[in-house]
Amino acid sequence: MKIVADLHLHSKYSRAVSQQMDLFYLEEWAKKKGIDLLGTGDFTHPLWFSELETKLKEVSEGIYVLKDHSSAAVNFVLTCELSSIYSQGGRLRRIHNLVFAPSLATAKKINQELTRRGVNLLADGRPTLGLSAIHLAELIWSLDENCLIIPAHVWTPWFSLYGSKSGFDSLEECFGNFQNKIYAIETGLSSDPAMNWRIEELKNRSILSFSDAHSPTKLGREATVFKIKNKSLKNQVNFSFKDLAAAIKQEKEAVWEISHTIEFYPEEGKYHYTGHRHCQISQSPQQTKTKGFICPVCGKPLTVGVMSRVEELASFNSQILKKESHYGVIVNYSALSPNRPPYIMLVPLLEILTEALKTSSPQKLLKAYENLIQNFQSELTVLIKTPIEQIAKVAGERVAEGIDKVRHGKIVIKPGFDGLFGLVKIWPERNEKTPLVKEQMSLF
Ligand SMILES: [Zn+2]
Ligand SMILES: [Zn+2]
Repeated sequence: MKIVADLHLHSKYSRAVSQQMDLFYLEEWAKKKGIDLLGTGDFTHPLWFSELETKLKEVSEGIYVLKDHSSAAVNFVLTCELSSIYSQGGRLRRIHNLVFAPSLATAKKINQELTRRGVNLLADGRPTLGLSAIHLAELIWSLDENCLIIPAHVWTPWFSLYGSKSGFDSLEECFGNFQNKIYAIETGLSSDPAMNWRIEELKNRSILSFSDAHSPTKLGREATVFKIKNKSLKNQVNFSFKDLAAAIKQEKEAVWEISHTIEFYPEEGKYHYTGHRHCQISQSPQQTKTKGFICPVCGKPLTVGVMSRVEELASFNSQILKKESHYGVIVNYSALSPNRPPYIMLVPLLEILTEALKTSSPQKLLKAYENLIQNFQSELTVLIKTPIEQIAKVAGERVAEGIDKVRHGKIVIKPGFDGLFGLVKIWPERNEKTPLVKEQMSLF
């Protein structure tokens, strides 16, 4: 038994988020995507919190379902993201942290304490605090030591732990002595586990991936999959907040553990390469080594992309071992630490359909999407474990070919930079012939 978890997302009460991010649509889309466990997101927002209080019921310790859920319930766990802006060591720092709470009662206490300290929780589902990461850790764990704090999308330049613009060089610099209680980091869309395997201090920490979705269709574009660790306990299907925490902390006696993560191509993320959006300058780490960090157009410093920043902080190279699953999905293992959970790279089904069907009409795309989901249960099943011939029968040869190419990693991506998303090409045009897989190997 496996649990597909997406624990970083935002409700309709966060800025720039779809009005459809409410409990009804979250449950509906989680099922379409094949997600079993969702974060609530935004539990600090007073209006969202009161919805959670009235509409959720606890089914096992710290795990909730909708009171009036449809036949197969989706599980929820209480999560939020906090944005800290403060100065340390004479520099302005900005970092986003995820907080997972073991109960509605603890979430309520956190909200009360933040309000008491003058934080305006109504302003945004992802509130901004003047508290440093150290003070935040102190506050959260003084209220409930079972909470988890997880630095979010750790490589984005502007708002993250290792961010090139306003981040830190190490967990210790950011969290002081509390670094011992930081058991995991989130990769974010612009990095994949292999990039994080290169960082010494992350050696024994968990690498998590979640979607950071702002609309229902983006749910699960990255996810973390849990499995039962000890095969003799297979009949124990209970999953509580404690089980989730024990798996993330990699406790010896944990019943569950991380099986693998599902990744967006990091090149698709908004900050993969170094560059300037307005000046249309984009540089790979190799190009940056020779050309430097100053924009040749405007003369100002370029926004340093995730790849270059990883190069700066990395202690070793990571070698990837690629193995193919039964249905042709490439699974990426760490050659240095084979016991680390591996990962697979996917392209969201709606993106594949857009290119395969040569349309951007939402109605046409959703119709093709629903047709596949109704036949094969969920997006994840379609992407990784439905025989290609069966997909061809339902959706046509070209869609089947697209999914097969994604499984084998035979796609090309124009990397994102300085806030601009990368562009996926499953069927590259003649002048875009560099296969991504080759390029990726040379980077590591
Ligand atoms: Zn964030
Ligand atoms: Zn410029």
